[in-house]
Amino acid sequence: HKEKLLRLEKDRMVGQLAASVSHEIRNPLTATRGFLQMMEQKEYSVEERKRYLSLAISGIDQANDIITEYLHYAKPNNDQQAQLDVKEELASILRFISPSAFAGGVAIDISHSSENPMYIWGESKKFRQCLMNLIKNAIESMPGGGTLTIHTHQSDKHIQVWITDTGVGMSKAQINSLGVPFFTTKKEGTGLGLVVVMSIIKSMNGKITYSSNVNKGTVCLIQFQTE
Ligand code: ADP
Ligand code: MG
Repeated sequence: HKEKLLRLEKDRMVGQLAASVSHEIRNPLTATRGFLQMMEQKEYSVEERKRYLSLAISGIDQANDIITEYLHYAKPNNDQQAQLDVKEELASILRFISPSAFAGGVAIDISHSSENPMYIWGESKKFRQCLMNLIKNAIESMPGGGTLTIHTHQSDKHIQVWITDTGVGMSKAQINSLGVPFFTTKKEGTGLGLVVVMSIIKSMNGKITYSSNVNKGTVCLIQFQTE
């Protein structure tokens, strides 16, 4: 009985999310259509054309971002559950993300409490998406550069990943809004990154906590049971 109730709750939530996602995608697409239509109806100067085209393209990019982050979340589980080494998963994300971080003046400092592998149980693709969204947020919080510190810690029962930035930080109200669909303070944000993160962490029986100081930075801790 209880399981069925939960299942219904989840279906309802996905339904609501799907409705708001369609709405969010329609806005940039409608804007894009408007700019293209204007260009069809009149001869514009090269400069105007350039401006309208780049607005049209950014509308498409925005729609694309929303679809990418949401579809990943909505995709049925067909990936295999496996033993994952948190250190290896982190390394593969960082290989991918560090060039753009360095280019943006962000230094990356990574350390581990142990030389040994740190095993948890989960789906590699989903766990990487989760790390990626968290690390992306940390980097995006430091538009003028800074330091991203990643530290892993293993105790008897838990494996922790600490992700610390020296970025813009968050107020209490902002922290309380984390994970609410479409909550974003960024001009080009989707507000879906943490919705995805929280659903993945929940499915792995993990925990996520934040602490932050405005203009100082943010500490994000994710924690899982050892395998
Ligand atoms: P998006 O990154 O598209 O805005 P997210 O769901 O990933 O969506 O994040 C939602 C919001 O949470 C961000 O817009 C930002 O305000 C806040 N946030 C998340 N992580 C951090 C961080 N490390 N530092 C400061 N703010 C953060
Ligand atoms: Mg994000």
